[in-house]
Amino acid sequence: MDLLDTLTAKGLRGEVPTREEALAVLATTDDELLDVVAAAGKVRRRWFGRRVKLNYLVNLKSGLCPEDCSYCSQRLGSKAEILKYTWLKPDQAADAARAGVAGGAKRVCLVASGRGPTDRDIDRVTDTMAAIKEADPEVEICVCLGLLSDNQAERLKAAGADAYNHNLNTSEGTYGTITKTHTYADRVDTVQKAHGAGLSACSGLIAGMGESDEDLVDVVFALRELGSDSVPVNFLIPFEGTPLAKEWNLTPQRCLRILAMVRFVNPDTEVRIAGGREVHLRTMQPLGLHIANSIFLGDYLTSEGQAGQTDLDMIKDAGFEVEGAGEATLPRHRADVAEAAQAGGGCGTAASACGSGGGCGPCGGHSHTPAVTASAEPAEETTDSGEPGGELRSDLVKVRRRGAGTELAPNA
Ligand code: SF4
Repeated sequence: MDLLDTLTAKGLRGEVPTREEALAVLATTDDELLDVVAAAGKVRRRWFGRRVKLNYLVNLKSGLCPEDCSYCSQRLGSKAEILKYTWLKPDQAADAARAGVAGGAKRVCLVASGRGPTDRDIDRVTDTMAAIKEADPEVEICVCLGLLSDNQAERLKAAGADAYNHNLNTSEGTYGTITKTHTYADRVDTVQKAHGAGLSACSGLIAGMGESDEDLVDVVFALRELGSDSVPVNFLIPFEGTPLAKEWNLTPQRCLRILAMVRFVNPDTEVRIAGGREVHLRTMQPLGLHIANSIFLGDYLTSEGQAGQTDLDMIKDAGFEVEGAGEATLPRHRADVAEAAQAGGGCGTAASACGSGGGCGPCGGHSHTPAVTASAEPAEETTDSGEPGGELRSDLVKVRRRGAGTELAPNA
């Protein structure tokens, strides 16, 4: 197939395909799917070998968000019966992080719901990072606190953060349909602030919200232009109690095509299968490892993933290996770009137009069950409306009831 030969050749050279070529990947048939996976796999192995980076989520503050992101179970007015709790203490967060590192995670992702951190919140996260690094000095820490104000990224960097996550989520053209309380430009600004402060930029997308192929290609190219070092690909977990609860429109085959398109556009970038991996790829998860070089270990922010040991077994059975703490994730030339951005105080690749930004990531879903450590109620009711076609599939979505914010051991 000429398309795949072209994409493979470009990917092996670290070149980005045209927009038309990216769209053509999404339009391939099921009969062509294994050829698409094989082509993306060649590119993946060129830059990342057979390594799989494991990341571990610690939800520092769950629910109670004043923002209205329609995909999110923690949103304003969400009726999803997720865990709701305010800031974990540093030692509580460090305990959860330690479980993830013991399970093989190289990076710990500290996430808090909310529009953005106060300076006091930055202090809290600083204390939490110190507690984690005291126990595991080598662990990478990525922080995800929403929209950043001036100097907050610099404070996080000085406190030991390695990366900042803020997802673009969808195309600029459709962003206003999924969130009204902040803009795509706000997200771009935060990613630029993080990158400019010398933090590695982690910014990705959510597929399955009813977007078009063009929207997906738009956001993936924007992430490339932005210079994201890590691109988490979330597959929408349609939580009951959120406006997108019935938005079940992904198949495992569609997810693999999306991952392949993301890989071809970001040949030498960490591509991570994020929230929705188990829900949407299901038994096809191992094929995803041939495209992506990174996953979350264990549970997500508000939903439960498969057992951590099952993740490890899957990696081994598929012929991959867990990336060690001493191994570089990105190819050397990408590290050079990151260092140049840090030195120059700019974002992205050398000629980047600094495309877009990202914010706190969904990285998981929510569903039902009473809150374990509830400390407050959601701000107020909103339009919990607009349920598109499709059925609720609570059988596929399990609300997180263990780990951070509970008395039960984390899944790692
Ligand atoms: S994605 Fe983040 S900002 Fe948006 S509602 Fe959820 S927690 Fe709040």
